[in-house]
Amino acid sequence: MSTIFFLDLFEAGRAATPAQFEAALRAEGRIDPADAAVTRGDGVFETLGVNDGAAHARDAHLRRLAHSARLLDLPEPHLGQWSHAIDAALAALPAEGPASIRLTLSRGVPGEGPTGWVVAARRDALAAERGRGAPIDVVLLERGLSVEAPTRAPWLLAGAKSLSYGVNMAALREARRRGADDAIFVAHEGFALEGPTSSLLIRAGERYLSPPVEEAILDGTTLADAFAGLRAEGLTCEYSRITVGQLLEADAAWLLSSVRLAAPVRRIDASDLEVDLELTARLNAVLSARER
Ligand code: PLP
Repeated sequence: MSTIFFLDLFEAGRAATPAQFEAALRAEGRIDPADAAVTRGDGVFETLGVNDGAAHARDAHLRRLAHSARLLDLPEPHLGQWSHAIDAALAALPAEGPASIRLTLSRGVPGEGPTGWVVAARRDALAAERGRGAPIDVVLLERGLSVEAPTRAPWLLAGAKSLSYGVNMAALREARRRGADDAIFVAHEGFALEGPTSSLLIRAGERYLSPPVEEAILDGTTLADAFAGLRAEGLTCEYSRITVGQLLEADAAWLLSSVRLAAPVRRIDASDLEVDLELTARLNAVLSARER
């Protein structure tokens, strides 16, 4: 694992000079224990999948970093500098094999302003290969949110990739307590939303559906690329509300995320689902071939 810290990541007079930036990139550092990322989980992050030296969906992740920063009233991140930091992280990784890069933008130490850093981590190639496309069992868990939360209660930060993932991790533990691998959150109104760390995709007849991105979920970068791949095959993809009834009757379902890619769902609570391994393999081939 290699950690790269850097500072002054913002537009409008606050951007680091190239020399400061290079110095900060080289300075392996430690997080200040008073940093709001540590004390309050107050900040945003992104995780990019990396394969053979290429970071997947870089622009989409950077756009979402900026979107999350806006939702948390953080200064606009300087995306050119973050992209430069991704290059530095890639250079620190082996040229081959799976890895991930995590970007963190924190409100920082009180009185000192925001901080940011990048962590590059190698992944075990065999484990990544073995796990890819393996069917999973999921449970439905209440999200405790309305689909209207982003407009009615923006302070709940639905739709931001906020550092506060304690609830999501608790949901995964609950899923495991119930003998499942993962969870799908359900909104107050009974619509399926997303997993604690993944987007939901279903096939309903000839249509591929995923919940509307403005309704209390994260705008998944992997899902967007999966839709692009399916559309390139002439298939119909739509963002649309999915009731629990529709989900349980789906012809197939997947959870998608940057590192795990597409995982087919085999069981939801006590209901079995068809697993389309052939389409799963096609999706994962498209997703792992993405570059930048
Ligand atoms: N939804 C949530 C809550 C997530 O945490 C993630 C990824 O971590 C996703 C969806 C999938 O996003 P992406 O495909 O951009 O990794």
